[in-house]
Amino acid sequence: MRRLLLLVPFLYFSSCTDKQEAAKTDGSIVTTVGMIADVTRQIAGDKLEVINLIGEGIDPHMHQPSKSEIDKIQKAGLVLYNGLFLEGKMGTILKSRADQGNPVSAVAEGIDVQVIDLGFPDPHLWMDVSIWSKVARKIGDELAAFDPDNGDQYQKQREEYQKNLNDLHTYALMVFPTIPEKQRVLVTAHDAFSYLGRAYGIEVRGIQGISTDSEAGTKDINELVSYLVENKIPAIFVESSVPDKSVKAVIEGAAEKDHAVKIGGELFSDAMGPAGTYQGTYIGMMDHNITTIVNGLGGSAPEGGFQNKLQD
Ligand SMILES: [Zn+2]
Repeated sequence: MRRLLLLVPFLYFSSCTDKQEAAKTDGSIVTTVGMIADVTRQIAGDKLEVINLIGEGIDPHMHQPSKSEIDKIQKAGLVLYNGLFLEGKMGTILKSRADQGNPVSAVAEGIDVQVIDLGFPDPHLWMDVSIWSKVARKIGDELAAFDPDNGDQYQKQREEYQKNLNDLHTYALMVFPTIPEKQRVLVTAHDAFSYLGRAYGIEVRGIQGISTDSEAGTKDINELVSYLVENKIPAIFVESSVPDKSVKAVIEGAAEKDHAVKIGGELFSDAMGPAGTYQGTYIGMMDHNITTIVNGLGGSAPEGGFQNKLQD
């Protein structure tokens, strides 16, 4: 029901922009995922139109670009995407556009961070707030290069935004250590949280692997169940953009071995919450994730998160 209501303004918004784009190239900034769109909007203010393609609850790994999305990409003044193969099919299109000299930038590539290697680079950089702050710097530079007349303003807004990110990062560093040491294990449906684990000192186990493009096998599930039972891990987490079939199998498996595992909450992995809500911003999404994980695993974080803006 909630989902249906939210769809209405989105459709309305799409039809409006379609009309505006009847002309050839507009000056829009097109982004692939919400986490990039939000940072771009924070920095651009009302100076630039930002159009995001992959919305709430949609999985970017598997997403097939629609004709209308390809249209938007072709009309964009500048396209900002994550890269590191996050966007699957769409990433391939964008890379070839970039190779042809079009204004396209992979914001998670070529920045000064140690990319986690899991046989291939882990694309989920936004899970470490200090890394996403570096991405914000790169987005600020891209916007200033795209629209130099307003470059100073973008850089000023980027600096302000980075201060908020720094506060959120500091909050995470404070609350994660409140989880009892043996319970610092985060189990989620797919492996999106390695950067979060590295930054905030928690072991991460995905049920499904790094991309959602594979299903967990019975052997993986059984191994994970044994691990949870042995280590008395109290909770595992579901994700908004991934089906939770495998999560249920793990809970049932643990129950058969007399260990109760609860669902610690729903986390935002590759998409943010509903537009217009706090969780529909990057800061709100991560505040929600951090606070939910810490409290779900027996630590103590304020229910309202670091700005007292979280509510259910
Ligand atoms: Zn992912």
